[in-house]
Amino acid sequence: MAIKIKKIEQPELNFWENFYFPQIFGGLWITLKHILNFKPITVQYPEEVKELPENFRGLHIMPGDDDGEIRCVACKLCEVACPTQAISIVAEAADDYGIERRPKVYNIDFMRCVFCGFCVEACPCDALRMGMKYELASYNRAGLVHTKEVFFEPNVKSNAPRDNANFLYKMQKGEILDDMEEVAKIKDLDGTYSQK
Ligand code: SF4
Ligand code: SF4
Repeated sequence: MAIKIKKIEQPELNFWENFYFPQIFGGLWITLKHILNFKPITVQYPEEVKELPENFRGLHIMPGDDDGEIRCVACKLCEVACPTQAISIVAEAADDYGIERRPKVYNIDFMRCVFCGFCVEACPCDALRMGMKYELASYNRAGLVHTKEVFFEPNVKSNAPRDNANFLYKMQKGEILDDMEEVAKIKDLDGTYSQK
């Protein structure tokens, strides 16, 4: 293959440029302008907290449902989706209407988590979201494994379907449920997964 050569001519400097003073004073003038227009960009943390963009992916939160319970049904889709195996879930049987299981243990290990948000994308019932908190410092490793009790934010509500039954029902109908009247109708059913 032929090698292409690009020849660049050395620019000619005039008499003054040969002394380099114009460039030096030009640079000093730019520095002086920045000093005169100085605006501090430092945030006095922790007294001041920087405003974060809406799509910031901070520490996870678990929204509550109308009964003040976490919405997680321990389906483990988030655990499977997590690329760093940061999530560990131990499920237990649930006797609530339409829910087979709930998490007995739900931990995220923040020594592993890379805040990619895949777990939130994978969750079928809006039980997990990325929050806005980012203060994660801990004196020991155990303090970096957060439990569902830490994630739970009962003040954050979600209208998405909570239970597997509702979700599967709507999935098989080809739509994702977001209508509370529909949810109420489905909850009147006898608790099986039979399709209408
Ligand atoms: S944000 Fe990403 S790395 Fe962290 S727990 Fe969720 S899926 Fe795993
Ligand atoms: S957080 Fe969502 S995806 Fe993860 S186990 Fe709970 S319901 Fe399933």
